[in-house]
Amino acid sequence: MSLSHTGGCLCGATRYEITGEPAFTIQCYCRDCQRISGAGNLPLYVVPRDCFSVSGPVKTHSRTSETGNDLELTFCGECASPICNINSKLPDRVFVMAGSLDDPALFSTETKIYEASRQPWDKS
Ligand SMILES: [Zn+2]
Ligand SMILES: [Zn+2]
Repeated sequence: MSLSHTGGCLCGATRYEITGEPAFTIQCYCRDCQRISGAGNLPLYVVPRDCFSVSGPVKTHSRTSETGNDLELTFCGECASPICNINSKLPDRVFVMAGSLDDPALFSTETKIYEASRQPWDKS
């Protein structure tokens, strides 16, 4: 089993590396994740913060989430692809956008959250 996962943005300027296995994985249907992804839900690969390193022209955007937590979104400053979130509720974790993994097939999850916001057209 690989102990190092890599990923990055659409343009390739931002790259990241994850060492070790994810703490947990989720698929989130909240409105914030719908806006971040532009899709019905956001698959998130959640890793300990000290296992995640990112390099490139990243920018961050901070806001208070709908659930009242502080959310810091990291995205590529060149192509604007979302890379990861840090949520003040779990500040020692990084929520990595699973679709940005070099091998997205590494992702799987049984855990779906905020399904009350699920859209009827989202059959995932
Ligand atoms: Zn980029
Ligand atoms: Zn969410």
